[in-house]
Amino acid sequence: MTRKLFVTTALPYANAAFHIGHMMEYIQADIWVRFQRMQRDGNGLREVHFVGADDTHGTPIMIAAEKEGITPQEFVAKIAAGRAQYLDGFHIAFDNWYSTDSPENVELSQGIYRKLRDTGLIATKVVDRFFDPVKGMFLADRNIKGECPKCGAKDQYGDNCEVCGAAYQPTELVNPFSVFTGSTPILKPSEQYFFKLSDPRCFQFLRDWLNTPGRLQPEMVNKVSEWLGEAGEKLADWDISRDAPYFGIPIPDAPGKFFYVWLDAPVGYLASLKNYCEKKGMDFNALLNDPATEQIHFIGKDIVSFHLLFWPAMLKFADHPVIDKLKVNVHGHLTVNNEKMSKSRGTGISPLRYLNLGMNPEWLRYYIAFKLNSKVEDLDFTGEDFVARVNSDLIGKFVNIASRCAGFITKKFDGKLASSLSDNAQAWIKRALVTEAGAERQASIAAHFEAREFGKALREIMEVADITNQYVDDNKPWVLAKDEAKLAELHDVCTTALILFRQLTIMLSPVLPGVAANVRKFLNDAELVWADTEVSTGAVWNTMLGRTIGAYDHLMKRVEPKMIDDLFDAPAQQAAAAPAAKPEKAAKAKAAPAVAVTETGIEVIAPEISVDDFFKVDLRIAKIVNCEHVEGSDKLLRLTLDAGEGRMRNVFSGIKSMYQPEDLIGKLTVLVANLAPRKMKFGVSEGMVMAASAVDEKANPGIYILNPWPGATPGMRIS
Ligand SMILES: [Zn+2]
Repeated sequence: MTRKLFVTTALPYANAAFHIGHMMEYIQADIWVRFQRMQRDGNGLREVHFVGADDTHGTPIMIAAEKEGITPQEFVAKIAAGRAQYLDGFHIAFDNWYSTDSPENVELSQGIYRKLRDTGLIATKVVDRFFDPVKGMFLADRNIKGECPKCGAKDQYGDNCEVCGAAYQPTELVNPFSVFTGSTPILKPSEQYFFKLSDPRCFQFLRDWLNTPGRLQPEMVNKVSEWLGEAGEKLADWDISRDAPYFGIPIPDAPGKFFYVWLDAPVGYLASLKNYCEKKGMDFNALLNDPATEQIHFIGKDIVSFHLLFWPAMLKFADHPVIDKLKVNVHGHLTVNNEKMSKSRGTGISPLRYLNLGMNPEWLRYYIAFKLNSKVEDLDFTGEDFVARVNSDLIGKFVNIASRCAGFITKKFDGKLASSLSDNAQAWIKRALVTEAGAERQASIAAHFEAREFGKALREIMEVADITNQYVDDNKPWVLAKDEAKLAELHDVCTTALILFRQLTIMLSPVLPGVAANVRKFLNDAELVWADTEVSTGAVWNTMLGRTIGAYDHLMKRVEPKMIDDLFDAPAQQAAAAPAAKPEKAAKAKAAPAVAVTETGIEVIAPEISVDDFFKVDLRIAKIVNCEHVEGSDKLLRLTLDAGEGRMRNVFSGIKSMYQPEDLIGKLTVLVANLAPRKMKFGVSEGMVMAASAVDEKANPGIYILNPWPGATPGMRIS
């Protein structure tokens, strides 16, 4: 049976441009999809349908559009028009990109709702809803903030806590306030529609669904099991309705009521697939009812409750045919230099800036893939690590093989590969592609890709590259080429190296589709399929022997460390790339680097910490003994600090725009003394001096260094 895979990524909320976290998820899913497309089941290539869409409904977009004086549809269309440059730029090959504000989604969402209603899983209750007495309207979840009822974190939205991940009703918030007026909302009765998640049928289904082996990551099974409780006693009914005015899908037979955005957002996966089927002349219902069809969602860890409780339960009781083959793959978040992304410190990475700097998108694809595994773990982007990894693996190990051997085939053999291989060559090919235990490496590499263990797959591919390079180093084609008597040997060696290079290319092609396409042309391959990596069938060399290949053209450049400096050096540009960063629009995109802002225009206060947490940070008074410009940096000053330790510390600080070195020498300031030393391009920074900056860098680009009152001396601890 040929597997049919319906694959999605989480739908991005259509109130802002993509950030680097989106790109990480899309790259992960795209690699998996490209790997699947190369696989044969029986006679045919595996069938993969990879779709995405903008998530468009809800109050944040309604209000954002209102502010710009346009309709929500116009607002969403503007955002949608900006998507292609990112997707094309990073080789993300969705088959279809659509919108939840579409006729297909209205039909499907209302259809699912009707089935849930007919099976007795919809209830209405008159509930007290928050109402802003100053603005005179009902408040949606995202328009109310307060303290999380579960963990007590401050400044959380009305639907779920970004600190502990709990989902709840806005009325459960402690000390709620309206984000529009800051006023305390009053309660007004309103009839609402609920999905009865507390129904015993939901618990029974979810428990079985979760615990089906191989369906979910073990850490997710544990987390969701906690939410279920022993017998479903923790499952609460889910309020799926919102009062007009609301930008959303009307609830059938309920005038003035709309589906809450999270009801119709995941249905957008199906809407995009349906739209795609219509474009391609495929039968949507037949595809869903085909027992070979599997449904796979890639999502981030911040939206787990919606995808592992509500969504499967909705699908199950709406008789969704793929429910037994529904999988949800959860990933962690991307951090940069081990810090959560923060716009004010400029540590985020703007995907557009990356591309505009001329950085190769496949470097990022490779680096992210190298760091990804199948667990729900955060992964870190570190500039130096990125440069080292890409240059060492892709340039030093991979591209290097072709660049050292292909030229001889063109110059000495009219572009024709040898038509047979020596015993020695065949032995090296087997050594590279078969383990000592006799197993084909491609099989374990394929298993790693299938299991989303991309880091393991790439490590094993690089072992093949290492053996290939060892072969080339041992046989030195550049020496053989000088001796006319050794032409046959040269032919044998270069042919063997290119056979192995082609193997590496096939196995890397899910990660490096652009390079693979160029290699395919250069080697005159019609297509790159995984079956060609099989040693036992001889597919590895059969079609290569005697083949005429094209001229080698350089495949990839090295990363220059200067590019990393440029990438990190422009926080203002990043802000420009994310047009809508206002708090009420920040909405669902939890991984967004955008900083949430309060009504008074300051960055929101961080979640509460204990006094013990505070004392983990060791703040000391330090004297600026010396201060100088850093050659080659337009942002940094180099500070020599005395914190009373009997030694000096070297600290870089991005305050050059505000201070002349001579103004700072002799002054006291505040040093974070126990911060891990950070290796930077210009040297190691041993700590951080504290400085203040505004959240709105356009309005106030200043950065202000702290200075204690007279009497403080170097080494004093600050508490
Ligand atoms: Zn919480």
